[in-house]
Amino acid sequence: MITCLDIGGSGIKGALARSATDLTPLGRRATPLDDLDAFVAAIGEMVTQSPVGSPVAVSITGVIDPADGIIKVANIPCIDGLPLAAELTRRLGREVLVGNDADLFALAEAVAGAGRGHRIVFGAILGTGVGGGLVIDGKVVNGAGGYAGEWGHGPIAPTRVGTPPIEIPRYACGCGQSGCVDTVGAARGLERLHRHLTDRAPSSVEIVAAWEAGDAAAGRTMDVYFDVVAPPLALVVNVVGASIVPLGGGLGQSAKLVERLDREVRSRILRRTNAPLVVQAALAIEPGLVGAAIMGGLS
Ligand SMILES: [Zn+2]
Repeated sequence: MITCLDIGGSGIKGALARSATDLTPLGRRATPLDDLDAFVAAIGEMVTQSPVGSPVAVSITGVIDPADGIIKVANIPCIDGLPLAAELTRRLGREVLVGNDADLFALAEAVAGAGRGHRIVFGAILGTGVGGGLVIDGKVVNGAGGYAGEWGHGPIAPTRVGTPPIEIPRYACGCGQSGCVDTVGAARGLERLHRHLTDRAPSSVEIVAAWEAGDAAAGRTMDVYFDVVAPPLALVVNVVGASIVPLGGGLGQSAKLVERLDREVRSRILRRTNAPLVVQAALAIEPGLVGAAIMGGLS
């Protein structure tokens, strides 16, 4: 039995896992952001609900360097820069494993979700951010610094997009570069793109809903959106050889968006295939907790 935790900037969710798919919820707490003792105490309260000595597996929004275990997590300052797994292991007196949430989303989909039966799975996320994780033969490939799968950052977003084509700016990104896919491909990015094209400011959910309902202005924005997001994702597929790309994150909730992105990506990759490539994630509810359970050795 493993205690699984999914830690984000606003909340900590927990579950007791008997297998990757047999999870009993342990509830939710707010994430202490500035006080390490409070952070550890919040986790400790959840962990005490599981058998003494049983291990803990954590999915977290942060990049973990596999060389030294140091985590970079800007939105939870009290643990930023710590070797989090070692610190929690010492303070809780239990074995603690820590993994990046996008990596564990990909692992969950590869082992127990839409990627089952595929050797190479690229789990892509279009939501609060643009991210992803690569899983080969059931193992997360996280590479130097822990950054493998991060297709959202790098100055590569196309700027002449849509039919007829228009120019969009190379927006500055929080990572310090400009022209990142994240600046237009994430939920706030889609809103920014729609503002640029229409001078109106609905939410990403409203833009997608209007597009699904046949609204012309939202349709134009989405045409431009796919022209920005599909080329870099197609390149990722060419480079890593993925045969399936489960899509998660808030924007991935739209079946129409997933189906259109699948067509746009398949038309741009070298391999010709009629089989679906970009598909809706199967574990839309708690992929972080499922991925954490699998990281902890459950199946
Ligand atoms: Zn960036």
